[in-house]
This record gives sequence, C-alpha cells and structure tokens, in this order.
Amino acid sequence: MSLHFGLSESQQLYREQIRRFAKQELAPRRQHWDQQRERPVEMVRKALDAGLLDIEMTHVMRGIMMEEVGSADFNCALPFLVTTEPFELNRLDGVPDEVRNPIRQLVREGRTIIAVGFTEPSSGTDVANFQSTATLDGDEWVINAVKNSISWADAEYFTITCRTEARDQKIWSLSNFLVPRDTEGVHAPRIWDDMGSHGAERGEVRFEDVRVPKDYLIGERGKAYAQMAQLFDTNRAYIGLKCIGAAQASVDETCEFARNRKVMGNSISTYQGVSFPMVEAETQLEAARLLCYKTLWLADQNLPNSKEGGMCKWWVPELTFEIVRQCLTLHGHYGYSSELPFEQRLRDILGWQIGDGTSQVSKLIVARSMFGRENTA
Ligand SMILES: Cc1cc2nc3c(=O)[nH]c(=O)nc-3n(C[C@H](O)[C@H](O)[C@H](O)COP(=O)(O)OP(=O)(O)OC[C@H]3O[C@@H](n4cnc5c(N)ncnc54)[C@H](O)[C@@H]3O)c2cc1C
Repeated sequence: MSLHFGLSESQQLYREQIRRFAKQELAPRRQHWDQQRERPVEMVRKALDAGLLDIEMTHVMRGIMMEEVGSADFNCALPFLVTTEPFELNRLDGVPDEVRNPIRQLVREGRTIIAVGFTEPSSGTDVANFQSTATLDGDEWVINAVKNSISWADAEYFTITCRTEARDQKIWSLSNFLVPRDTEGVHAPRIWDDMGSHGAERGEVRFEDVRVPKDYLIGERGKAYAQMAQLFDTNRAYIGLKCIGAAQASVDETCEFARNRKVMGNSISTYQGVSFPMVEAETQLEAARLLCYKTLWLADQNLPNSKEGGMCKWWVPELTFEIVRQCLTLHGHYGYSSELPFEQRLRDILGWQIGDGTSQVSKLIVARSMFGRENTA
C-alpha cells in the first residue's frame, strides 16, 4: 500500500494562485458581501478571468479552492464552487442540449445560478414525506410544490424535487426537474432574514400549476434521491474545507495576536492557557483536513465516499465553530467586535451545522455503514 500526503506540483501551484487571489481580492471585501447580502457575482467574474475556476477541475482541486476561499471570504466559496459544475444534478442530464447547454454556459460564466429546491416546509430530513408533486399531462409535467430554505431563492433557475411515483416507493418516488424562474406559476421568492451565509440568501418559493416540458426531467424518473445523495457526499467535504479555511485563518490571526499582546509583562502566547488551545486547534484542523481531502480523493477515484462525507459533515462544522469561538475570546474585547472577522465566521459556519444535512442526520449515515441499515433508524 503506497501512501502519499503531499500535493502534486499542479495542485501546489493552484493553491498558491488561489491563495494569493483570495488574500488580495476577497479578504478586503469580506464585510461588503456580508453587509450587502448580495451574491458576489463580481468576485466570481474576477476569479474566472484569472483562470481559477474550471469545470475540468478534480474534486481535490475544488477542495483546495474551497479551503483557500473559505479562509478569506466564506460567502464567496459556494458561488465559486457552483461555476465549476461539481454535481451531477447541476449538469441537468437528460434535459435537451439546446435547453441545458446555454444555461450551463451562463452558470460557468458566473452569470446565473441554478438553485436547489429540495427542502419543504414540513420536511427536510424526511424526504419520503415530501408533499410536492409532478404529474404528467400529455407532453408536460404539472408541478405543485412549496420549497423553502433554498439558498439563492432569487435564482434564475431551480432544480426541484417532486413526487412522480406512488408514495409507497418512498425515497424512490421522487424525481428532479429543471424549472426556469420565469415560468408561469413560479411565485416571487420570500427571502428570509438569515444570520449568516449572506452571499446565498435563503428563502421560500411556491410553484403553482407550473407546466414544464416532459424532457425537463433531470436524469431518470424516481432517481432524485440518488442524484441528491451524490451531491451531498462530496458537498459535505467541500463544506468541511470552507469551514477549515475560516478556522485556520482564525488560528493564524490568533497566534499573531498572542505573540504581540502583552499582559502582565509577557506575550500572552507564553501562557499555556492561550497556547495549548491553539495547539489543539492546529492538530484537530490537520486531522479534519486529511478527512475532507480523503473524501474528495475517493470521489475522484469513483469510490464510495458517503461514510467519509457523513464524518466530515457532523464533525467539521462543530469543530471549527468551537475553534473560532476560542479565537474570538483569546482576542479579548476586540474579538467581540464585528470589525474583526470572528463573529461573521461563527454565523456563517453555524448554518452549515444544518444545511445539507444536520449533524445528527450525518451521524446516522455513518451509523448505517457501521451497524447496517436494518439496525439503525
Ligand atoms: C445555510 C443553509 C443553507 C441551506 N440551503 C438549502 C438549499 O439550497 N436547498 C434546500 O433544499 N435546502 C437547503 N437548506 C435546508 C437544509 O438542507 C435542511 O434544513 C436540513 O436538511 C434539515 O432539514 P430540516 O431543517 O427540515 O430539519 P428536520 O428534518 O425537521 O429536523 C429537525 C431536527 O431534528 C433532528 N433529527 C431529524 N431526524 C433525526 C433522527 N432520525 N435522529 C436524530 N435527530 C434527528 C435534526 O438533526 C434537526 O436537528 C439549507 C439550510 C441551511 C441552514
């Protein structure tokens, strides 16, 4: 068995390029996107122009991008990721080329977004209980759905998950559809007032007797759950890496502060009550980073990675939230101000203890692989 933990030459070069870009272009505008609550389209365009985003990127390369961007501006990480088409669902397989190719081109150019409408008012985790339906009427699907908690609820396009098969087929009764926002019956979004992740405002969208052509079905009928699972497995490692980026930046900033801040005649870094939490954080971040990259490496090898994705998702947002909280308090009263980045990082990371599967549900995924599906809830 050969083990190799280093980055290849091209990965190392990419890390240096995206790090430089993130420090120069993103970090100075971090507060802007948080305060303006806008999709950072301008930064996506800049990253594209700099040749830093590409659909040919491997999952590991995208992971490097998420970590570096997360360290500079958490709100840019997700918009950067989606332009590289990381998920099967957003490639709109099955939809006719003349419809999907122009949309994909706009996404790659950072000029539009395809939002994912999965969660419903009465169920998020419990997908077998989704109420949204799509019924075939001649050459069209008629969709009736209420989807909420959609990141980018004001997007130009949606993929939405609806029941197309008998309810007793449970998770295999669901199918995904492409729905352009300007289709008749798509109501204006109700945008929520979220704590964080302001670059991707969440909200609710109602779809009332919306008619889309028969071939706006994405992939196969009844296979929505498998498509979503593919998205979730890798996305859980991407989420982990953007949280790690934010936490590592916090640790680095805290070490710098601790070297310079004098209390009772000494730099506070000389006090083990200050240095040991940072040592523990550095160690935990290294372990978490290895787990996330292993998950993405498995995806690049087309190997199963659900268990590892579940581990990333339950552990990393909880771990990094705690690390950032400690960094905030080690800055004393300065840390409590929104002029320093810690409070924003806490708000942003907290959302990802929930989004794309809560910690509890992510543990269930890991438990299933350990005890067998029949012996878990
Ligand atoms: C920042 C953010 C972005 C999001 N973006 C999107 C998006 O773009 N598109 C989209 O469709 N959705 C999105 N979501 C929604 C998200 O995916 C759901 O919130 C999540 O799947 C959980 O569903 P729920 O909120 O309905 O919780 P519920 O399923 O109602 O669960 C409520 C609580 O019960 C716990 N629980 C449930 N079942 C079990 C169990 N078996 N064992 C133990 N505990 C359990 C959960 O962990 C949770 O704490 C986003 C959410 C956030 C916070």
